[in-house]
Amino acid sequence: MKIGFIGLGIMGKPMVRNLLKAGHEVVVFDVIQANVDAVVADGARAAASSKAIAEECKLIITMLPNSPHVKTVVCGAGGVLEGATEGTILVDMSSIAPLASQEVCKACTEKGVKMIDAPVSGGEPKAIDGTLSIMVGGDEAVFNEVKDILGVMGASVVHCGDIGAGNTTKLANQVIVAVNIAAVCEAFMLSTKAGVDPIRVFDAIKGGLAGSTVMNAKVPMITAGNFKPGFKIDLHIKDLNNALETGHGVGAPLPLTATVQEMLQMLHNMGEGQSDHSAIAKYYEKIADTQIRA
Ligand code: NAD
Repeated sequence: MKIGFIGLGIMGKPMVRNLLKAGHEVVVFDVIQANVDAVVADGARAAASSKAIAEECKLIITMLPNSPHVKTVVCGAGGVLEGATEGTILVDMSSIAPLASQEVCKACTEKGVKMIDAPVSGGEPKAIDGTLSIMVGGDEAVFNEVKDILGVMGASVVHCGDIGAGNTTKLANQVIVAVNIAAVCEAFMLSTKAGVDPIRVFDAIKGGLAGSTVMNAKVPMITAGNFKPGFKIDLHIKDLNNALETGHGVGAPLPLTATVQEMLQMLHNMGEGQSDHSAIAKYYEKIADTQIRA
């Protein structure tokens, strides 16, 4: 099938490569030429704009940073809706505010374009392996039309509800990950300060109730002082902003999320915005004046 793909960053590039490997024709666009060149070298074809992609593709996937980027790419000048014809399907896989998904979907519906939101969890390694967790919101019939193609990029593809439900699910995911990393850092600072080797603490507790995918992924990074992203602090600030805004909108208090958001904001101010979110350890290292290292 011919698929348009817009947004070729850390996640978009490997997702395009998996679509190509599965035999699809992929037409791509990004504002960064080097990102376009990287996937063209692997067999994708470049288009001049998002509008140009929509003029030739009946299925379009977007993988962009945040709500304003999706609004620009879909509804802006030279965007998808200027080129799309009735019946086109737009799958937005970016992590954005659920309300923004609903707004963009409304604009799409007015033009006869069918949209679902399908953000992902799993990061670059799972994008490369094609084993992302994909959480989908929108019309179930549209979901069923694209489910197999999403399955090329993900190990699990779950329909969560109406448009925006995918991004609501993703926000829940991001709250759990952020608070979990902070809890791990706080606990490992306690044991470090008390003089117990962090690797022994990890080995002793990872198989018990405190163990988690987050602990398994992040403790080896923290104890090695390796904060190469992965998932950047600045992107997590974006997600927690969206979570707090959504929480305020629906009346869900998020006191833990708000606290971790302030830690992330301080890290951004310390120049750590492009570091992996495991660098929450550096917040604790600063206030405790001690490093958590093996
Ligand atoms: P990224 O910043 O690496 O890539 C975003 C791409 O979008 C860039 O190549 C950028 O040039 C392009 N872009 C921005 N504005 C554009 C426009 N107007 N037209 C065309 N292209 C445009 O981000 P990423 O890490 O690939 O993340 C993409 C989304 O996936 C984000 O919403 C992020 O929160 C989410 N996500 C990321 C990870 C991760 O580990 N990196 C994991 C899960 C979900």
